Amino acid sequence: MVYDRNNIFARILRGEIPCRKLYEDEHVLAFHDINPQAPTHILVIPKGEYVSFDDFSQNAPGAEIAAFCRAAGRIARENGLDGPGYRILANHGAAAHQEVPHFHLHIFAGRLLGPMLVKD
Ligand code: 5GP
Repeated sequence: MVYDRNNIFARILRGEIPCRKLYEDEHVLAFHDINPQAPTHILVIPKGEYVSFDDFSQNAPGAEIAAFCRAAGRIARENGLDGPGYRILANHGAAAHQEVPHFHLHIFAGRLLGPMLVKD
């Protein structure tokens, strides 16, 4: 899949659209989800152009993957989520209902999160 430079997270990264930023470093940006599904709902994105987890895990340099993983854990700790607990999730593709075609990790916390998947 070709990366769409006009996707909403690319526009956030370019500063064309505002976000409620929580964290930023050389490789990573994290901000609050605009439509939170839990009291805390954070999105963590790499600054590189990756369509989804599949693309990121295959094509990102090791340093970017390591920075992303470290940042996600740090963001959770810095927001006090490691004690009570949190859930991380990444949607890839149509079956998972991925809406934004720029790889992102969701971090959910702030209440009991229930079973992992809603049953049909
Ligand atoms: P996906 O379904 O692709 O895994 O999740 C996309 C997420 O991006 C959704 O939770 C949605 O609420 C969030 N989102 C979509 N547009 C915006 C936006 O403009 N700003 C922010 N902060 N979040 C957004």
